[in-house]
Amino acid sequence: MNKVIFSGVQPSGNLHLGNYLGALKNWVALQNEYQCVFCVVDYHAITVKQEPKILREKILEIAKLYLAAGINPETAVIFQQSRVSAHTELAWILNTITKIAELERMTQFKDKAREHKENINLGLFDYPVLMAADILLYDTDLVPVGDDQTQHVELTRVLARRFNQQFAEVFKIPEPYIQKQGARIMGLDNPAKKMSKSAGSELNYIALLDKPETARKKIMKAVTDSGSDIKFDPKNKPAISNLLIIYSLLAEASVKELEARYNGRGPAYASATAGKYGEFKRDLAEVAAKFLEDFQQKYNSFDDKFIEDVLEKGKIRAEAIAEETLKKVKKAVGLA
Ligand code: AMP
Repeated sequence: MNKVIFSGVQPSGNLHLGNYLGALKNWVALQNEYQCVFCVVDYHAITVKQEPKILREKILEIAKLYLAAGINPETAVIFQQSRVSAHTELAWILNTITKIAELERMTQFKDKAREHKENINLGLFDYPVLMAADILLYDTDLVPVGDDQTQHVELTRVLARRFNQQFAEVFKIPEPYIQKQGARIMGLDNPAKKMSKSAGSELNYIALLDKPETARKKIMKAVTDSGSDIKFDPKNKPAISNLLIIYSLLAEASVKELEARYNGRGPAYASATAGKYGEFKRDLAEVAAKFLEDFQQKYNSFDDKFIEDVLEKGKIRAEAIAEETLKKVKKAVGLA
């Protein structure tokens, strides 16, 4: 039997290059070796306020973005979380073996509670337990995510082991899969903070559905560091290092190659408007614009009807697997 990878993205905000380079791109790279299960985690999204009409649109949009990134809908299971009730059922059972102190330690909860002071709800607190249920229902081997999710996958492993010990060996213990490069793409306007859908400024991120021209402008406006070398040095040159990683992953060229290509060029190629890193930024702007053009061409080739079909088929396949696991869980606990 093929090993399983499971991952998910929330249908909220605008998916950006960080999501693509940190998560989706890796899903595509792994999809021939693994049975893939990719979820649109709508129940996670509603832990912060969503506009109902937009949420509905975003659910289809995320599924379409999965396909545009290159996920094969013939082999991967692509589905909407809220349509498979086993997720919330298992989350409830896992709640009973989760300690409040464990959830209080979650940095994403602390960050989001700070961001949404007016809406620190129980769902937001319980978010990691629902995520554990997502993963554990599918006998998942590997969870490819960006590094902001490491703590959640760790908690998943703790809960799985605890359940197995307390009741019966039901769950496989999953491993996080976090790329060395790209696991944490930083904001274009502030390289000290990760690129984020919920960032205050549009200049923080390049959305996958941004116009190529917009992306060009955002790259040209991205902050840079002092000095003029194009050098990978996250400590002293966080902005240029971040741009180098983005360039490297989009152009499939190593950071070393890029450093060699641009080394020493900075000041000589400076332009009045672009600043001293001008040549480098102009080239990266082209690479990013071309990437978005190709990506969006693919995105626009799928109509909503096709996506609805993919989600419907995915729901049936996901439900069959999830119900099987849930049955074992209920039996182990004594509920059935
Ligand atoms: P989210 O947008 O929070 O649903 O995240 C979807 C996926 O993208 C998760 O695997 C995240 O870890 C990943 N991700 C989000 N932001 C970044 C970032 N700035 N760099 C790399 N990966 C990210």
